Amino acid sequence: MKTQVAIVGAGPAGLLLGHLLRAEGIACVVIERQSGEYVLSRIRAGVLEQGTVGLMERLGLDARMKVEGLPHGGFNLADGERLIRIDVAALTGQSVMVYGQTELTRDLMDAAPARGLEVIYQAGDVALHDVAGNAPFVTFARQGRDHRIDARIVVGCDGFHGPSRQAIPANVGRVFERVYPFGWLGILADVPPCNHELIYANHERGFALASMRSATRSRYYIDVPLTERIEDWSDDRVWDELAVRLGPDAAAQITRGPALEKSIAPLRSFVFEPMRHGSLLLCGDAAHIVPPTGAKGLNLAASDVHYAAQALVAFFRDGDADAVAGYSAKALARVWKSERFSWALTKLMHRFPEDGPFERRMQRAELDYIASSEAAQRSIAENYVGLPL
Ligand SMILES: Cc1cc2nc3c(=O)[nH]c(=O)nc-3n(C[C@H](O)[C@H](O)[C@H](O)COP(=O)(O)OP(=O)(O)OC[C@H]3O[C@@H](n4cnc5c(N)ncnc54)[C@H](O)[C@@H]3O)c2cc1C
Repeated sequence: MKTQVAIVGAGPAGLLLGHLLRAEGIACVVIERQSGEYVLSRIRAGVLEQGTVGLMERLGLDARMKVEGLPHGGFNLADGERLIRIDVAALTGQSVMVYGQTELTRDLMDAAPARGLEVIYQAGDVALHDVAGNAPFVTFARQGRDHRIDARIVVGCDGFHGPSRQAIPANVGRVFERVYPFGWLGILADVPPCNHELIYANHERGFALASMRSATRSRYYIDVPLTERIEDWSDDRVWDELAVRLGPDAAAQITRGPALEKSIAPLRSFVFEPMRHGSLLLCGDAAHIVPPTGAKGLNLAASDVHYAAQALVAFFRDGDADAVAGYSAKALARVWKSERFSWALTKLMHRFPEDGPFERRMQRAELDYIASSEAAQRSIAENYVGLPL
């Protein structure tokens, strides 16, 4: 098979890129290791920046999001004694959209056949070849047969563990990484949220986040040492811990219910540079990871895809090779700003095991400053709502 762009991975990055390219008449194929049902079963991000919403609008795939999504004009930072509301709408004139990654992925998936976007699911042994040159190809096995897709460009949208990043020689790439000494234990339940906006809490027992996927489905997190096992956390134990860490006002509003999903995810900051090598571009988690504090992971994948689509349209339509060559620098400029915000919010809202009384005073001083300064709140708000694409 021959195409212009072979996209590896049908998560949000791969599907979004496929749609943006098809909308411009560029031929592409998406190759995914898992089944569609499996991709939809992964419970992940839930807060969309304006830029991400705008991309779905541009594609005309925002109808369900507009009905079922929850626009949020603010969020809260809690530190035991007080709740600091960041009035994102007043400070930036914009809002974010609470709409689960699963739902966004479903919208992209469902629209693919009608828009001529071919997605090959359950592709085994996916491998990238000759990406340094002008005639790369992707091979995979499916239903007992070997397949090969020749393309002019390959885009790796295959997440942190996929093969695309590994196809770039070690002497070309550079890794920047910070692994955090805790993970987030998340619980998803069909119960109304305890608050109509997100609450990030820094409590002496640790971090907690009250979040949601809809008006009837809640997503909560607490941080736990990486040595914790999920089997040791009954639903009741999680709810008890949340009630303490979120504080009495939120606790009074918590509705408990059985976990639909419960898991522990490690936290890391990770950037791979460059995000292009020859005819291979990397987008999303394939190139970088942020801790979920601030909800930037999915949104960064969307902004990468926006830049990649722009570059590929310029390349295929106008023969502009510089656009592809410039992709990495353009994407990384935004990636590092989101890495900084996610890292800073993680540092502010978590108790690190190595921290002592000095670091705790620094956290309190920063929260005092945020509580009292509109300039500080504006800086947080503009990062939270998403820096311009
Ligand atoms: C447990 C968890 C919780 C998260 N929570 C949040 C959150 O609350 N907020 C937030 O903003 N972000 C969150 N994130 C991050 C967010 O989900 C990711 O940033 C987002 O999914 C990135 O999209 P992506 O398309 O780049 O990668 P992915 O969603 O990882 O998609 C990659 C796709 O590539 C496929 N693939 C992998 N290997 C191969 C292969 N060999 N061949 C073909 N296909 C392959 C995978 O099956 C997958 O479908 C979370 C991530 C995790 C893991």
